[in-house]
Amino acid sequence: MRCKICGAKLRKEGDICKSCYEEYCKEEALEKDTKEILKLGRKYLPKYQLTRYGDWYIIFVIILIALISQKQILLSILCLLFSLIALIVALFWTKKRAVNTTCTFYEKKIVFQSKPKKKTIAYSDLKDITYYQNFFQKIFHLGDIQFHPESGTYLLGGFEIKDVPDIEENWEKIQEIIQTKKEV
Ligand SMILES: [Zn+2]
Repeated sequence: MRCKICGAKLRKEGDICKSCYEEYCKEEALEKDTKEILKLGRKYLPKYQLTRYGDWYIIFVIILIALISQKQILLSILCLLFSLIALIVALFWTKKRAVNTTCTFYEKKIVFQSKPKKKTIAYSDLKDITYYQNFFQKIFHLGDIQFHPESGTYLLGGFEIKDVPDIEENWEKIQEIIQTKKEV
């Protein structure tokens, strides 16, 4: 007899081996864990979002000056219109993403959701958390938090939630939760 899931040889009669059974029990326990401790969202702050396109503003101004100096008025207006539309689309898209992104801390696990993506990590599989803030995020009290799994990086197996509001306060709360969970 072999394990139905991993194919390992079974010593006793049964469908799955001990390690697959343990894995299954762990997953089921995580699935049943629905008690929320803390829920974080991604903040959409237009003031901050407008600071993110600095390089593009410079390119835009250079192109506009070049066009005006060549007396290309129609092209200048088109350039202006196109840039405005691009900016509105970018802001709209970021807002949509922000509304659909949450990071929820439960008793045993952390669930990151950025619809339609969903990632779950158990505290026991979490190695470390870090946070990053750029110059403007600092001004608006926003920050990005990375969750690093025991194996892999936050991009692989872990996740990152961007633009968490009241970052100083929330960072303290998260660290407290993770410390207590890790000690258990
Ligand atoms: Zn197995």
